[in-house]
Amino acid sequence: MILKLTNIRIRPHEKESALRKFCEKKLHAPCGYLKILKKSLDARDKSDIHWVYSVECAERAPAVLPREYGRIQKKPRVYIAGMGPAGLFCAVRLVRHGFAPILLERGKPVEERAADVEKFFSTGVLDVSSNVQFGEGGAGTFSDGKLNTQTNDPLNRDVLDEFVGFGAPPEIAYLNKPHIGSDNLRAVVANIRAFLLAHGASLRYSSALEDVRTQDGRLTAIRVNGDWEDADALVLAVGHSARDTFSMLLSRGFRMEQKEFAVGVRIEHLQSAIGRAQYGQGYAGLPAADYKLVSHASERAVFSFCMCPGGVVIPAASEEGGVVTNGMSEYARAGKNANSALVVQIKKQDFASESPLAGIEFQRAIERAAFRAAGGAYLAPVQLVGDFLSGKESYYFGEVKPTYARGTAFVPMRAVLPSAVCEALRLAIPDMDARLRGFGSFEAVLTGVESRTSSPLRILRGEDMQASVAGVYPCGEGCGYAGGITSAAADGLRIAEALYRRYAP
Ligand SMILES: Cc1cc2nc3c(=O)[nH]c(=O)nc-3n(C[C@H](O)[C@H](O)[C@H](O)COP(=O)(O)OP(=O)(O)OC[C@H]3O[C@@H](n4cnc5c(N)ncnc54)[C@H](O)[C@@H]3O)c2cc1C
Repeated sequence: MILKLTNIRIRPHEKESALRKFCEKKLHAPCGYLKILKKSLDARDKSDIHWVYSVECAERAPAVLPREYGRIQKKPRVYIAGMGPAGLFCAVRLVRHGFAPILLERGKPVEERAADVEKFFSTGVLDVSSNVQFGEGGAGTFSDGKLNTQTNDPLNRDVLDEFVGFGAPPEIAYLNKPHIGSDNLRAVVANIRAFLLAHGASLRYSSALEDVRTQDGRLTAIRVNGDWEDADALVLAVGHSARDTFSMLLSRGFRMEQKEFAVGVRIEHLQSAIGRAQYGQGYAGLPAADYKLVSHASERAVFSFCMCPGGVVIPAASEEGGVVTNGMSEYARAGKNANSALVVQIKKQDFASESPLAGIEFQRAIERAAFRAAGGAYLAPVQLVGDFLSGKESYYFGEVKPTYARGTAFVPMRAVLPSAVCEALRLAIPDMDARLRGFGSFEAVLTGVESRTSSPLRILRGEDMQASVAGVYPCGEGCGYAGGITSAAADGLRIAEALYRRYAP
C-alpha cells in the first residue's frame, strides 16, 4: 500500500534521510519506495524556518507503466517557427506522436549563440539574429531558469517531467519554486536537440520564417531564406521579440489585438541584504533568498518580476540602437547581488494608435531613449534608488555595484521612462520597503530599461487552436498565450495535442 504523508517538517540543518526515518515510523516497516511530491520553505517565522514536505512512500516500489502516445499514420508537413520552450516542447510531443516536424530558428545553435552573446556583452557588437532573445533555446536560455508559473495548467507537470528527462535536476519536479539556472538550461536544450534529431525532426538554424502564402483562408506555403516551401501546418512559436514577423503576419491579414504589458527597470540589492530581510541573521545553509512584491500604492499596479537571487542584470537587446535589460543566474545563485524587474502596468490608452503593433512602438521608444541617454554602445542608464525617490541625479555608487555587463551611465530615470511609470515606481518602492526591509534602501541601483516583460500583442486563435488563417497555430509567449518558460512549454504541448487531434487516424 502507498501511504501519502503531508506537512512533514524538516529543519534546514537536518539531512533528507530524516524523511525516510519518518516514513518508516508511519509504515511500521522498512521504506523501499519514497517519492517527494512537494517541498517548500516556510520562512514566515524567522525563529522557526523549516522545509515542508509532502511524500508518498511504501515498502516496495509500485510498477510504473511507460506512457503511451497515439501515433499518426501519414506525416503532414508541419513547420514550427521558433526553438524556444514553446517550439521545442511542441516538437518533442509531436515526435512522440509520430510526426516529423521541421523546426525553423532565426538564430544559431545554443553553443554558437552563447559565443555571440558573450561577444555582445564584451564588445557591444550585436548580432540581430543571435542574441539573448533569439537563437536555439529561446529567450529564457540566458535566464535564471525559474520554472514556477502562475498558471494551474495540468500540462505543467508534463513540462517538468520532460525537463527532468532531458537532464534537469530531479528536484524541479517537486520544489514549489523550481529553478534550473542558465548553465543547466543550455545543456537541456542540447539534449532536446539530440532527441529531436534522433526521432525524425529536422532542425534548421539561421532560417527565419519570412512570409506565408494562403489560399481560401488556408495556409499553403511559407518562405524561408527566400524560398517558398509547401506547408500543411505552421506553429508560430516566435516569442515576444519577433517584431518583423508580427508586421508580416498583420500585413497578411492575421487577426491580432493589442495586449497590455509592463515596463520599468531592474532593481539590484546585495544578496546578503535580501537574505537578512527574509531569513533574519541565521540564513546560512538556506537557499539564496528571493522575494515577490506587488504594490497598489498608485493607480497602476507595480510588481517585481523574474527575481534572480545571486544573479546579474544582462544586456538583452535584439535591435540596434535600443537598450533592454533582463536578469540571469546560474544554478548555484552564488553571485553578490540580487536583481529583479520592477515594472509598471502599461494600459492600452498609453499606446499612440489602435494598431496591434502600437505596443511594440511603445517598447521601442523607451529602448531607444535609454540607448541615447546612456551615450550609446548599449551602456545602460542607472540611478540610485535614494536619488530616484528624491528627484536628484546620481554621481557615485555605494555598496551595490551594478552587474550589467556593457557598463552603465548615470542618467535620471525620468529622462528615459514615461512620467506615469516613474510616478508609479516612486510610490511603489517605499510601499514595498514596508514589506521587505531595505528594498528601498538609498544605495540600491535601478538599471533601465525593462521593456520585454511579455508580448505586446495577441494573435487570435479559435478553440481548435488555429489562427484566422487555417493551418496556422499561434503558440507560446509571443502570440500572447504564455508568460514564462513553463507556461510557454505547456502551450507547445497543447498545440501538439491539437495537431495530433487533427491528424490522428
Ligand atoms: C534574460 C531572460 C530571462 C528570463 N528568465 C525567465 C525565468 O527565469 N523564468 C521564466 O519562466 N521565464 C523567463 N524569461 C521569459 C521566458 O524566456 C519566455 O517566457 C519564454 O522563453 C517564452 O517562450 P517562447 O517559446 O514562447 O518564446 P521564445 O523563448 O522567445 O522563443 C522564440 C524563438 O523564436 C525564434 N524566432 C523569432 N522569430 C522567428 C522567425 N520569424 N522564424 C523562426 N524563428 C523565429 C527566436 O529566435 C526564439 O528563439 C526570461 C526571458 C529573458 C529574455
